[in-house]
Amino acid sequence: MGTVETVTGPIDPAELGTTLIHEHLQSRDEAVAVQWPYATSLALDPEPAEIGLDRIGELATTAAEQLLERGVKTIGEPSCMFLNRDVGLMRHVAEATGLQIVPCTGIYTYDHLPPYFVSREPGEIADLFVHDIEQGIQGTDVKASFLKCAADEPGVTPNIEKVHRAVAQASVRTGTPIMAHSRPARETAPRQIEIFEEEGVDLSRVQIAHTGDTDDLDHIERILEKGVFIGMDRFGLEMFLPFDKRIATVLALLERGYAERMFLSADACVTIDWYGLEAGKQLADAGLVKDWTWNMVPDRVVPALKEGGATDDQLETMLVSNAPRWLTGE
Ligand SMILES: [Zn+2]
Repeated sequence: MGTVETVTGPIDPAELGTTLIHEHLQSRDEAVAVQWPYATSLALDPEPAEIGLDRIGELATTAAEQLLERGVKTIGEPSCMFLNRDVGLMRHVAEATGLQIVPCTGIYTYDHLPPYFVSREPGEIADLFVHDIEQGIQGTDVKASFLKCAADEPGVTPNIEKVHRAVAQASVRTGTPIMAHSRPARETAPRQIEIFEEEGVDLSRVQIAHTGDTDDLDHIERILEKGVFIGMDRFGLEMFLPFDKRIATVLALLERGYAERMFLSADACVTIDWYGLEAGKQLADAGLVKDWTWNMVPDRVVPALKEGGATDDQLETMLVSNAPRWLTGE
């Protein structure tokens, strides 16, 4: 097996250990953060209004320590462009705690692209991703371990198709796996996979994130038939699918023999600027978001799956063995 790049350097895939494949240190709009830095604290503290990297780092460090106490060794960090990817911050947290953080490259958008990308071909965008994979991210020697793209409510628009083709071409050129954010309610995954196929991507290196937002087993099996991994990765986001239905769906898929194709995660953001403090509180009060932290999988998902009959072997497959297989292809 080859090595896996983390923000503190390459490691032996066997060293990944228990891995949550989809958790964010922060989700913060980088344009807003630059133009109105004082305004992006939001869900963090009523005051001071300005939340700098120190505070974000401090909160992420605490979250990392709590994960390590629970036996989790590694997270996949799918923050890329438009989620304020910051490998300096990631490295700081990894060095301070020992949590292994696997970074990515890509563009997180549901349609909008800046003119820089609108006027360029997928191959030119792929060049940027390949740079992150082969040279390093943001002027550091930290290399991206996977590629990220997204399709959501607007569907696979021309801009989204362009990003998918760019990601696919970078994958073909470098052998790097892909994580594609999907929107099951809009059935985006089949078209996303089709684009990857057209570009010649090895589908066994593709992970369709947020597949666990639906309990439609037929829809999920149609995706699985393509040979991809799926992310059962938003436990706690009740607004898309309640916890109990997410657990029942994973158990049903385990029964059908899909342990080797599923990842368990929460897509939890230690800090996020999507909602103001008051709006964030309202979501929680309304039960639309519940226990949505990095601790969700060890604290609630694993016990619930065990209670539902999942075996230790199946849990180990989903939480330990799948990550090295997806990341290295071996
Ligand atoms: Zn995410």
